[in-house]
Amino acid sequence: MTLHREQIIINGIVQGIGFRPAVYALALKHHLTGCVSNDSRGVVIEVQGSRENLDAFADLLPAMQLNKMKIDSLDRQQMPVVQGDSQFTIEKTNAGVNAQTFMPPDMGVCPQCLRDLNDRKDKRHHGYFLTACTQCGPRFSVIRKLPYRRSDTTMGPFPMCPACSQEYEKPVSRRFNFETNTCAVCGPEVKLVDSRTGKALPHPIEAARKLLAEGKILAVKGVGGYHIAVDACNQEAVQGLRDRKHRPDKPFAVMFRDSEMLRQYAEVSEEEAEVLASLESPILLVKKIPPAFGEARQGRLNPPLLKGETTTAEISFPTLKKGGRPPSEASLVKDGGDLKLLSNAVAPGQATIGAMLPYTPLQVLFVDRPLVMTSANLSGQPMFYRDADVRECLKNVVDYVLYHDREIVTNVDDSVGRVASSQSNTKKIPPSPPLLKGGTAHLGLQLLRRSRGYVPEALALPRIFQRKTLCFGAQQKNTFCLGFGDKAVLSQHNGDLDTLESQEAFDRALRHLMQVFSFHPEMIAGDMHPEYASSRFARHMAEALEIPLIEVQHHEAHVMAGVLEQNLLREPKAKLLGVAFDGTGYGRDETIWGGELFVVDHKAIERVGHLERVQMPGGEYAIREPYRMMLSYLWHTFGDQRIDSFFHSGVHNQVFEGVWEMIKGGRSGIETSSMGRLFDAASALVTGRHTVSYEGQAAMEFETLALSGNPRTGALPIAIRMDSGKMVFTTTELFGGILKRLSNQVRAEDIALAFHKGVAEAITAAALIAREQHGTQGVLLTGGVFQNGLLCELVRHRLGKAKVPVYEHRLVPMNDGGIAFGQLGYVLMYGLDKR
Ligand SMILES: [Zn+2]
Ligand SMILES: [Zn+2]
Repeated sequence: MTLHREQIIINGIVQGIGFRPAVYALALKHHLTGCVSNDSRGVVIEVQGSRENLDAFADLLPAMQLNKMKIDSLDRQQMPVVQGDSQFTIEKTNAGVNAQTFMPPDMGVCPQCLRDLNDRKDKRHHGYFLTACTQCGPRFSVIRKLPYRRSDTTMGPFPMCPACSQEYEKPVSRRFNFETNTCAVCGPEVKLVDSRTGKALPHPIEAARKLLAEGKILAVKGVGGYHIAVDACNQEAVQGLRDRKHRPDKPFAVMFRDSEMLRQYAEVSEEEAEVLASLESPILLVKKIPPAFGEARQGRLNPPLLKGETTTAEISFPTLKKGGRPPSEASLVKDGGDLKLLSNAVAPGQATIGAMLPYTPLQVLFVDRPLVMTSANLSGQPMFYRDADVRECLKNVVDYVLYHDREIVTNVDDSVGRVASSQSNTKKIPPSPPLLKGGTAHLGLQLLRRSRGYVPEALALPRIFQRKTLCFGAQQKNTFCLGFGDKAVLSQHNGDLDTLESQEAFDRALRHLMQVFSFHPEMIAGDMHPEYASSRFARHMAEALEIPLIEVQHHEAHVMAGVLEQNLLREPKAKLLGVAFDGTGYGRDETIWGGELFVVDHKAIERVGHLERVQMPGGEYAIREPYRMMLSYLWHTFGDQRIDSFFHSGVHNQVFEGVWEMIKGGRSGIETSSMGRLFDAASALVTGRHTVSYEGQAAMEFETLALSGNPRTGALPIAIRMDSGKMVFTTTELFGGILKRLSNQVRAEDIALAFHKGVAEAITAAALIAREQHGTQGVLLTGGVFQNGLLCELVRHRLGKAKVPVYEHRLVPMNDGGIAFGQLGYVLMYGLDKR
């Protein structure tokens, strides 16, 4: 037999996922000798054997079944044969600079480790809260830098015991070469302490379960930070958490023991169950089965509130006696003989539950009931991930802290997604485009927050960047994005950059990611908004490094994010209508945009339409107080013809009068074409939701209401008028129609649905006009307003009937979490990196 020898260099996600052991096994199978190692070039394999075996080996490499593996390049080169080479070895990892390999994201616990965890005969792993293997467990949140070696992970301070080392050395083990291998003998210990006294409790995990059952509030260390956990069926406890956190309404996510338990509360399709149980294990918005929550509110939502007032929803403990008629066909959780519903304080005013399943062994061990699992933070601040911060800052929020001393490198919040409705008459969301291959892409999954489980997985770009570009993203739901080679790495969710703490978190995340990828920017992109913290950081860095700065308009970035993610301009003649509907963004004319239409092709992105502009009284205040937008639209529609009945009885008239006078005098100082604000205004008018405690609350409640509307309800009119060649959505008839229905005592649910239908019809009409006037071939829906699932469905249905293809975001959020990626898209698509 003639011997041959080859060197194979592989790039991609090939470290930290059991790649070398799998290569080892494959080499043995093909009777090859040689070695495999990691170095600065990637994974380097030398193999020697017959030509036939070498080829078979190289062909099978990309087909190895490894979680998160992604091979970007595989180069084969002939080498001189090494005489006497008699075995295949895995070599120690050398430190290298400019590693071209990619760090894998954090993964949930795999089925085999779950088995180990439950296997009483497996003395090493049974019940151990950090059980993991080469195919699962944290990576991004524990690796300080590549190449992947234990000393560069937060397991560095825990040397392996002999049994762990044995596993690590044994090629047939699932933990062969598993850098963060650990067990109860050598690894971190789990601890439970009283948050006030600091006193440790014995048997931490059992004790935690018991305390949760008693209604206590716990901080629990997770993968990329801490959660706050509380029994989701305990009304008093959940409300107690809301009071302590000063978070009156914003929905909490709930962790269920398994999908069976979840199915007692929500409709879960096969695909949703798959996403929930995936290694990424995001929070998924699933439709609740009424009455999953303690109290089903009828008709109008909360009574109108003004600033300074607080919600004091009346609450009944949501327990049904055994033997009583269960509220749905599904049986409910049995607890001490009672059947329990979720507390209605979990997600007030929502038709969905943000659900997730346990993804760490620790969670598997203590989650035995539906638990609220919300990011442990203080209002406006990032998720806590350092033990000392939790003990210091949360002692008045939580009763106990369940933690361990394996450090977390960087905070990574849970990801949030939804699976687009399969009931839609039109085509499903287009299948995964070639760009995202290797990226995790369940068919209908749309991410609303792309973070743990996905970051820092790179997204492939249609061409190679001439300059390494760093995009700073937006102010709200911030992410930033590194562009280099033909890759984009979108950061984890950094939250809103309104506080010093969140700005510091942004800075830490930026440094960490730049270090991980040895990234040095040659060009900067940021938002046009002069006052965004992210824009400020962008300007400073561009100045300090003396490199070019590109300021990208907010809604153009939204469109480009969708265009780039789906590679929608891959045909040279492609032309699309981009519908960018969101809250607020800084416009090119210095007004506040948010209801914008763009025609986009290879040459340019051009604004071809918008929602008509109205005053935004009080600027930012109008976001927190939707009644301001309501008054603005009433003035815009009826002028001085005052609609007295809508100066609600029971609210502070002086406040209304003050704002009304401001609008009348045209003294708002600022105008907006925001679709999000139009939703706010309509919601305020119909539901009496005059103030909100989180952004988008009024619109979300309006959507919930509309879901119970009579399907035969006709649409409210939104007309399009042409103004110097631009389409302008006009709202005069819309508000006339709402007032008429209100005075005719039409149900709020039906008005809400009629409003949603009106918006969907306006989009459809605009799509037809754009096709006629500009030759657009499809429509892209982008911007935070399209988090509204009902609106998306209505639009899909109508555009489907009109035979207009509709594109939606999938892995890159349609909300401001996608702005950084869109800034990158803008630079890339228009060749700004080449100038
Ligand atoms: Zn595993
Ligand atoms: Zn050990």
